[in-house]
Amino acid sequence: PSSASSTNGERLFPSLPPLHYGHSDLHLRKGIMNASHLASEGEVDAEKAFFVADLSKVYAQYRRWVSCLPEFKPYYAVKCNPDPFVLRLLAALGTGFDCASNNEISQVLQIGGSISPDRIIFANPCKALSFIRNSCKMGVDMMTFDNCDELYKVKRVHPNAKLVVRILTDDTKSLCQLGLKYGAPLSTVPGLLAKAKELDLNVIGVSFHVGSGCYDPSVYMDAIRRARSVFDMGLNAGYSFDLLDIGGGFEDGLFEQGAAVVKEAIDQYFPDRRGIRMIAEPGRFFVAKAFSLAANIIARRAPFPHPTCNWNEAAQQIDAEADQPSVMYYINDGVYGAFNCIMFDHQTVQPYVLSLDGSFHVPSTEIQTNCSVWGPTCDSIDCVCPSTRLPSSLRVGDWLGFDNMGAYTVCAASQFNGFEVSKVIYTTGGGAAATEVRNILAAFASASRQRG
Ligand code: PLP
Repeated sequence: PSSASSTNGERLFPSLPPLHYGHSDLHLRKGIMNASHLASEGEVDAEKAFFVADLSKVYAQYRRWVSCLPEFKPYYAVKCNPDPFVLRLLAALGTGFDCASNNEISQVLQIGGSISPDRIIFANPCKALSFIRNSCKMGVDMMTFDNCDELYKVKRVHPNAKLVVRILTDDTKSLCQLGLKYGAPLSTVPGLLAKAKELDLNVIGVSFHVGSGCYDPSVYMDAIRRARSVFDMGLNAGYSFDLLDIGGGFEDGLFEQGAAVVKEAIDQYFPDRRGIRMIAEPGRFFVAKAFSLAANIIARRAPFPHPTCNWNEAAQQIDAEADQPSVMYYINDGVYGAFNCIMFDHQTVQPYVLSLDGSFHVPSTEIQTNCSVWGPTCDSIDCVCPSTRLPSSLRVGDWLGFDNMGAYTVCAASQFNGFEVSKVIYTTGGGAAATEVRNILAAFASASRQRG
């Protein structure tokens, strides 16, 4: 797939794969056609699974962000998907970056050789001493904290840091509850600020995270109310904060609703916000929809004979369902690869038929039945869908598609059992947006080259 449709591929960045025109569907098809060609030539692993990343979808999300939350500069959460093209596009659009480690900081600073360290927030409240020392060396000053030890470490190796106190807010309406691990309860904040003052450290503001995958955007109201009270605690401690960071958690389908809550809360709690910089750390909002995955059916079998054999956990789950799967499909990416999002990010994925027997005409009359879909490793935990609706007539060599595969997928994929991480084919989409994205990237590439 890496050479799929390279005839119209263009290399704006010599070190990166080519960029293509056309919508994701087109490239999923081209990738599959290329794979069939390689298979007919007897290429090893010709049928590899692959992603298609449509950068015009990242651009569309950026435009949506600017139109709904113009007062908040997004600092993209690199952990969500550190894809080099995504980072370049967002850098070209002028966003900042939320980094959590030395490597993320280095990766961002190297984008086009042009990213100023003040476009980075080191948004990890519990950092190794050496990481804080390194961020000082790199010129990254803005960083979060939520405990006293962090203040001592910062005092030792980065005394001029611009500190942001991360507070605990209600994250019970989110799939990933980050408050289990991070965030200072409000009752502890005056003590933390007093200690920071005693150590002569510079605290510039407040951050929070309502949890990743937030399905009730009304929580931003209470979170911003809490942030307001911490601004007041800052005044009492002798600080005049000028930064409010509302974190991530923005969900694609609830974004407009969330933005409306944020705006209402800001008007209520920060009616006079002159001199206050407002930022956010969105991750999945920018990338989830931009990546699709094509995976090949490499094997199939009937379900285990019922129920005498030693069932594994996933199979027990299937057994518990009244409507038991009639076919088990095995595909060439799984929970140790792109689908780690099922384990780590509590995602559920929905396969669809991309190609049947080399053809892209998937008959709509095909009867769907209850099936299970499994990954390629030898571990029985490697179950992509314990129960889903697909035709029972799919065969080895047919392809399944999965959309919304951009967030917390490829970044945490492993090579367990020797299976490679699926590669990415890039497109700038079709139509006017494609031209805009290409122009933005071309201008960024040329400016980077001039800077040497
Ligand atoms: N900021 C911080 C500190 C995070 O830990 C995360 C996710 O874990 C994010 C931002 C991004 O969150 P999301 O992808 O939900 O927008």
